Amino acid sequence: MPRYDTDLDHPVTSDARTVPPPSSRNQSASTDRVREQIESLRRELDRANRAYYADAKPFLTDREYDEKLQRLAALEAEHPEFDDPASPTQRVGGEPVKKFKAVRHSVPMLSIDNTYDDDEVRAWVQRVRRALGQTGQGKSDSLFDAEAGSGLGFACDPKIDGVAISLRYENGILTQALTRGNGVEGDDITNNIKRIRAIPLRLTDNGETPKHLEVVEIRGEAYIPTEEFLRINEEREAADEEPFMNPRNACAGTLKSLDPKWVEERKLGFVAHGRGEVRGSLAEVSTHSEFMQRIRALGVPISTPRLASDEDAILKIIKAFHTEAASLPFAVDGMVVRVDDFAMQETLGATSRSPRWCIAFKYPAERQQTKLIRVEHQVGKTGKITPRAIMEPVLIAGTIVQHASLHNYGQIRKRDIRTGDTVIVEKAGEIIPQVLEPVLELRPKNAKKIVAPETCPVCSGPVEIEHDSEDAETTRRCINPECPAQMREKLIWFVGRRQMDIDGLGEQTIDLIREQSDIPLNHFADIFHLHKHRDALLQLERMGEKKVENLLHGIEDAKGRGMARVLAGLGMRHVGETTAKMLARLYPSIDALLEAEEPALRPKTLSKDEAVRLGFPAEVKDR
Ligand SMILES: [Zn+2]
Repeated sequence: MPRYDTDLDHPVTSDARTVPPPSSRNQSASTDRVREQIESLRRELDRANRAYYADAKPFLTDREYDEKLQRLAALEAEHPEFDDPASPTQRVGGEPVKKFKAVRHSVPMLSIDNTYDDDEVRAWVQRVRRALGQTGQGKSDSLFDAEAGSGLGFACDPKIDGVAISLRYENGILTQALTRGNGVEGDDITNNIKRIRAIPLRLTDNGETPKHLEVVEIRGEAYIPTEEFLRINEEREAADEEPFMNPRNACAGTLKSLDPKWVEERKLGFVAHGRGEVRGSLAEVSTHSEFMQRIRALGVPISTPRLASDEDAILKIIKAFHTEAASLPFAVDGMVVRVDDFAMQETLGATSRSPRWCIAFKYPAERQQTKLIRVEHQVGKTGKITPRAIMEPVLIAGTIVQHASLHNYGQIRKRDIRTGDTVIVEKAGEIIPQVLEPVLELRPKNAKKIVAPETCPVCSGPVEIEHDSEDAETTRRCINPECPAQMREKLIWFVGRRQMDIDGLGEQTIDLIREQSDIPLNHFADIFHLHKHRDALLQLERMGEKKVENLLHGIEDAKGRGMARVLAGLGMRHVGETTAKMLARLYPSIDALLEAEEPALRPKTLSKDEAVRLGFPAEVKDR
């Protein structure tokens, strides 16, 4: 097959396809075309990432991106002579590692002093002024006395609740990515970082890497967007795994996964906030705010620094930003304020812990008091019974909250939370409300201890209780496989958007059919027999001809969703979306999966004890 006949993005003209077998001249011409094709795809994919992450103006859908990426990978495989370490396909490689290598930072990554207090910000600005005056920056005896302070400016950036990393570019190519670690030495997570599409593998300006970009180290925050954080937790809960406390934990856990696959599954973002070693043309930049603009022009996502000339202006920016922060797609827990001028930063220097030219103002996690009215015991689809607080409505960080997690019965006992108590509620990472503790001074005489259900609150089936190493209860679970509460949750999960995505069948319709009709809906398979009950469906309240038609169509469409989504839809413990995808890749049909040997299916993440408890043969427990 002639080379020009590969599946190209913009197929070469039709006459190219019909020319006779290529002469050597034609061959080199077609090779040129392939190279152009490869380069054009690389540019387009880079541009797409940049548009999506740095400029927030996407022009390709995920699907279009994936298709183009596959096409590029196919072309590159056929033409290894055009290999490029910064090609977008390089985001795909990278094998799981056993351990990360520790690497020394070229410039230490210091931590920043935190404050929650306006007065401390004022005091810090005073210290900065004094320090700059004392070291001669103020030129106090000179003619310029009146303008002495006018050169001093401050840049304020949002403090994103993520994980600080350092990216090293040599001649414009990403060569290394390190975690902060202890500030002196961090872990080399380059393989993982390459999977983050928000991070350019190559610095470019209008498609070209500018000359003289010898070394540019960019420091910033990798983060998990709020929506993605909620999705991950939903998935973890679906697989009966402990949800992450906040986006930062989720991000740290993901970046330290030994298998880069996890980084790809979770759509991490990145925002630059500083620099490390810089040599070459960018070393001439004299302020933080200009440095940020320059790297944005090179495709790095930044948050444009807000500039202030004195403490009043700084505090005004901090205050205004708190409101804005709630509407951002990622969690922000404060603002970082720094002296904008690099020469002044140098003059100010650092203590052993942190730079003197920088301070982080943290917004206090918003806490409110309200009354705990009662506790609901919810049965999840794996049988887990979760206590949920029903409270008097209260406004926290911009939203009305009246339900909150009480985690588990062990926590309730430990904190001695009772119904009738006034409780303190906080939003973890400003997202998920949780009850922290009761206000004991306000406890009424009739406050009642919360009793954990001894049997399933829905089916009265037996419960199983798990404890941690200190004998505190961690989990309580209904173990009746026929439990209608579990089945209801399983059905709702199964038809959900990320699983079978059945149009016309949601929580309400499931309840309607199960509660108001004789149509059997007690198992996944029953869904696919609903078409036999057309007439009975039409009898139901609010179920007209059109709605039933829509429902039956939706069920028909769902048959084509594929193996991975069926597996994830079953809501088995330890089989979330990611594991289901993995299984479907390895075993493309149900038959193949059923034939698979148990040891081959045993998740590597399972602890030995858990594996044995779940009934895996003891001899494979060391796998
Ligand atoms: Zn039950």
